[in-house]
Amino acid sequence: MSDPSKYALNSKEVANATEEWLLKRGVQKRQIAELVMLLQQQYFPSLTIEECEQNVDAVLSKREVQNAVLTGIQLDLLAAEGKLLPPLQAMIEHDEGLYGCDEVLALSIVNVYGSIGFTNFGYIDKLKPGILQKLNDKKDGEIHTFLDDIVGAIAASASSRIAHRKQAEREQNTDLPLD
Ligand SMILES: [Mg+2]
Repeated sequence: MSDPSKYALNSKEVANATEEWLLKRGVQKRQIAELVMLLQQQYFPSLTIEECEQNVDAVLSKREVQNAVLTGIQLDLLAAEGKLLPPLQAMIEHDEGLYGCDEVLALSIVNVYGSIGFTNFGYIDKLKPGILQKLNDKKDGEIHTFLDDIVGAIAASASSRIAHRKQAEREQNTDLPLD
């Protein structure tokens, strides 16, 4: 066990690393916001891309989300370097269809935001629009087995957050849910 007197969690460091690593892996917050727009525009026609991005930011500010992002990216990187144990190495490297831990890790993000997040996650995972298409096409030679699901989950969670907050606004409820 680690010595608690020597380890102290630095929340700011975790948040900064999440932001940096998403960018390093080719994912911009605006691209996630575009997925949110696609998911929610039909329900809220006045929704703006800035509003979508603010909701992506709110999702990314959560520790559970940051943990999933960093864990997923780390596994993708280790797979790219051939550093995982066989047969896990081959399964993650080839994005094996029967390996579902990438989706399960992403669900730990969606979990924070309730059932609307789940349905949006399933929907966007099937559709694979925008940045998800890019992460999936494997043309850049990089491994994004975990990251594609994580990005989809962030977009789905931001969508759920919007849906809940818009309803609260309609009801003029000052007690806004799902921070
Ligand atoms: Mg995947």
